[in-house]
Amino acid sequence: MASGDSFSITTPIFYVNDAPHIGHAYTEVAADVLARWNRQSGRDTWSLTGTDEHGQKILRTAVANGVTPKEWADKLVAEAWVPLLQTIDIANDDFIRTTEQRHESVVQAFLQKLYDAGLIYDGEYEGYYCVGCEEYKQQSDLVDGTGEFAGQLVCPIHGRPVEVLKEKNYFFRMSQFQQRLLDLYEAQPDFIQPDSVRNEIVSFVRRGLDDLSISRQSFDWGVRVPWDDSHVVYVWFDALLNYISALGYDPEAADGLFERFWPSNHIVGKDIARFHAVIWPAMLMAAELPVPRRVFAHGWLLVGGEKMSKSKLTGIAPAQITDVFGSDAFRYYFLRAISFGQDGSFSWEDLSARYQAELANGFGNLASRVIAMTAKYCDGVVPESGPVTEAELAVQATVRDALRDASAAMERFAIHEAIAAVWRIVEHLNGYLTEQEPWKVAKDEAQADRLRTILSTALEGLRALAVLLSPVLPKAAQKLWTALGVEGALGALGEQSIPTAAQWGQLPAGTRTVALEPLFPRIEQEPVA
Ligand SMILES: [Zn+2]
Repeated sequence: MASGDSFSITTPIFYVNDAPHIGHAYTEVAADVLARWNRQSGRDTWSLTGTDEHGQKILRTAVANGVTPKEWADKLVAEAWVPLLQTIDIANDDFIRTTEQRHESVVQAFLQKLYDAGLIYDGEYEGYYCVGCEEYKQQSDLVDGTGEFAGQLVCPIHGRPVEVLKEKNYFFRMSQFQQRLLDLYEAQPDFIQPDSVRNEIVSFVRRGLDDLSISRQSFDWGVRVPWDDSHVVYVWFDALLNYISALGYDPEAADGLFERFWPSNHIVGKDIARFHAVIWPAMLMAAELPVPRRVFAHGWLLVGGEKMSKSKLTGIAPAQITDVFGSDAFRYYFLRAISFGQDGSFSWEDLSARYQAELANGFGNLASRVIAMTAKYCDGVVPESGPVTEAELAVQATVRDALRDASAAMERFAIHEAIAAVWRIVEHLNGYLTEQEPWKVAKDEAQADRLRTILSTALEGLRALAVLLSPVLPKAAQKLWTALGVEGALGALGEQSIPTAAQWGQLPAGTRTVALEPLFPRIEQEPVA
């Protein structure tokens, strides 16, 4: 079982039906910042992402494009999903595809275990199914269609008519787990976060759970049901198991990762919270395995007031942003501007404004000025501090508080609060320089000691910023780290773990600094909206 010193986090595995948009990239970046923070805090950390490749929707898309579903998935993974990780600078430990043998064998073993335990039976499913959602629907889930679909029941998410299924299916006895799920939500209040999503899930489960159809017979793009190969496993039942198949879960042969890292924290969009907070823990309870550590549901990205989706033509490819602003700015913007867990709006104007005010003028300019003054007044060498005053003690206190507050916020996955806590150092250092006016002090030889104290304090503050911002701004933080003349790669473990490295007073006098190019250069190119 995972110990208190380990941390494991997952993104949903993304459906290879289409290319990634900024909504997918947002989820990836959030999980990556939490993974990097924990890894750099010295915890044994594992982060997982991947792709969901089975199901009727993929099959239909592949057929429409004249290729096999596996060829379709291979192409999307190679050309879109793996490159996305580079575009936004994700440091994942593993990438799982549900068409891999290591995954399919776990799905079959897991299903067989539930079947042998009498938790699966055959029955007849008759009802609605949205292929867009790959989800069985109740009549109460549906709405009346409009326009070309007037007079028909449609999926509220896709706005298209659902299909009526009548087929022999295998069913998982999910209804048996209603009370155990309610007990779980009660005993572990942060199992589902934020509270708005938790409340919705609790009242959904209180209304009663049906057994879940877990196989399909009318098409064959999926994992075969082990005791009846005329059925394939329902795509969600298959997909959810990626979280343990990637850890090598196998009743016969575990390789240690499962013991080390399960249970994981799951980051999901709120539209799929129900799968992760109801079906998934019920499946794990049925197999007598521990449930996830936490299911954290983030909100929608809104563009022009509407939920981001490719079908609504508001789909924005992540590279449209990173080509102009860089991957660090992408990571910073979405995690700073949006309270993690709430809906948030994206606009090019807001992104440009924050880039200029916060990254270029706030942080980047601070770093450039301090390194440039060190070159000009101290021959590029970190000076020995003279006696400190209240002003320096206040800077030290801000750094100490930022470390404390950011750490606490990251524990709650309040990433926006953590960044805001660290940003108080940026603001304090800018104010400190404005007040202390080192460029004036430098003109008075009698104040040489004072100048050295000011620059030493500012350099030490920058060192703390590089450490604390590295999970969010890995490229800029490493450049600053190198400019400060610190040896080794930022983010390596050991003495450079965040709680240790963010402590005051570790940049030795005599360290030679290096010129720093602008961390966030002026944007010449107008973004293509
Ligand atoms: Zn739908």
